[in-house]
Amino acid sequence: MSAPFGDGTRCVHAGLAPAAPGAAVAPQPVLAAQFHLSDDPADDFYGRAGNPTWRALESAIGELDGGSCIAYASGMAAVSSVLRVLLKPGDTVVLPSDGYYLARSYVREHMNGLVVREVPTAGEWTADTVAGARLVLLETPSNPGLDVCDIAEIARLSHAAGALVAVDNTTATPLGQRPLELGADLTLASDTKALAGHSDIVLGHVTAADPELAARLRSERTASGAVPGPFEVWLAHRGLGTLDLRLARQAENAAALYEALRGHPRIRSVRWPGSPHDPAHPVASRQMRRFGGVITFELGPAGPDLTDRDPAAAVADFLAASRLVSSATSFGGLHSSADRRARWGDQVPAGLLRFSCGCEDTRDLVADVLTALG
Ligand SMILES: *Cc1c(COP(=O)(O)O)cnc(C)c1O
Repeated sequence: MSAPFGDGTRCVHAGLAPAAPGAAVAPQPVLAAQFHLSDDPADDFYGRAGNPTWRALESAIGELDGGSCIAYASGMAAVSSVLRVLLKPGDTVVLPSDGYYLARSYVREHMNGLVVREVPTAGEWTADTVAGARLVLLETPSNPGLDVCDIAEIARLSHAAGALVAVDNTTATPLGQRPLELGADLTLASDTKALAGHSDIVLGHVTAADPELAARLRSERTASGAVPGPFEVWLAHRGLGTLDLRLARQAENAAALYEALRGHPRIRSVRWPGSPHDPAHPVASRQMRRFGGVITFELGPAGPDLTDRDPAAAVADFLAASRLVSSATSFGGLHSSADRRARWGDQVPAGLLRFSCGCEDTRDLVADVLTALG
């Protein structure tokens, strides 16, 4: 289900079993912990080691990512498994200084003896940046700043230095960007976000270009127990069917909101790599297939009489005034939501909002946001 088909067709059909008379058309969840034992080692025997519901989603995401996929209990289970499998004490790991904060804190607080090099996503990447590294983890577009780096160029530099490259593709999704085609060794994501898309499960995956590396990751998943619940996996597979439709509406909403906010007197800066006005657009439009619905902007005070209000209060007022935007963390879901990133300790301005455009009608969402801005 790849080359000649469009994204919508690929999402709808990804990971479906071949048609068989009397069988269900859509994948059905298998929640079993125990399976009747057989002499064939390929058969399922225990729920931590393998499950048909996992394999259906892994085959679907693997098709979209272009490699061999392993599903995990969360995005962080995926990230931490990659770090544990590829790194040993003394190794150097390059991490984005402006990416998802738990990747950095996991390495610093829960792994021993690594040399950690933090690099800004939009910084200058040279041979020196990756020299001596064992693993280079990229996150592009980065969360929450939405900066972008050149995956193909950094993969070339990293491979020349003997390093493997993993890309956190959460913001882009497998439809927005195919890091393995751009030369990365691994692509991984939190499928809690747009892939599952309904704000009701926590899940992650890694897809490897090399089947042998995929087998090592799969075996570490069984041993560490970072396994996803089959029910969540089934819900993600169900959600994946509409990823193309949801992303299209979310991107439409992001484009309209970006235009409405750009130049708005209360907005200090607005970022969305999909816009030709965004500094990340030249690289983003070269390597991304399409854009998603996450934008960030910095909210200023609500007028001359309110100039003394602190940015946190201005954000709280904005979210309370909106009828359609939930004050909630995470992104990529059906419902528009936003959160102030500084509350989580991200090194960003106090009034910076990460805004996840949902699938509401564009007209309604833009009108609601403009009304809430006053
Ligand atoms: C949310 C997120 C993660 C962590 O995923 P969980 O499913 O919450 O564990 C990792 N990377 C990025 C870019 C994320 O946005």
